[in-house]
Amino acid sequence: MQDCTFCRIIAGEAPAEILYQDEHLTAFFDQNPQAPVHVLIVPNKHLENLREAKADDTPLLGELLWRAAELAREQGISSQGYRLVLNVGRQGGQSVPHLHLHLLGGRRLRWPPG
Ligand code: 5GP
Ligand code: ZN
Repeated sequence: MQDCTFCRIIAGEAPAEILYQDEHLTAFFDQNPQAPVHVLIVPNKHLENLREAKADDTPLLGELLWRAAELAREQGISSQGYRLVLNVGRQGGQSVPHLHLHLLGGRRLRWPPG
């Protein structure tokens, strides 16, 4: 999708600090970090959000979670703990319409979220 920022990052057409990329997923640092470590993990294929996911996408969704756990280890935040956030739709606070998992860590995170 040419008009999707995250598709452009995945394709290397827009700048981002990429941490990981394989045939299914890409991970890069959030441009407006909300914690010392704030990484976005996204499927390479354009899915607007979790509502659009189909049963066939479950391996991809599993890879997304597994990659988050691996990146948390690589970023040194795994043992202390971290948070994964997946905003869906307007009331969920989603601002970019390409499914993305936030990996947040490196500080004490409050609960409940706002
Ligand atoms: P959402 O609110 O949709 O769950 O999260 C979108 C996230 O994407 C925000 O944390 C925002 O800072 C980040 N973001 C938006 N545009 C860009 C971009 O072009 N590059 C990067 N690295 N992050 C972005
Ligand atoms: Zn996209």
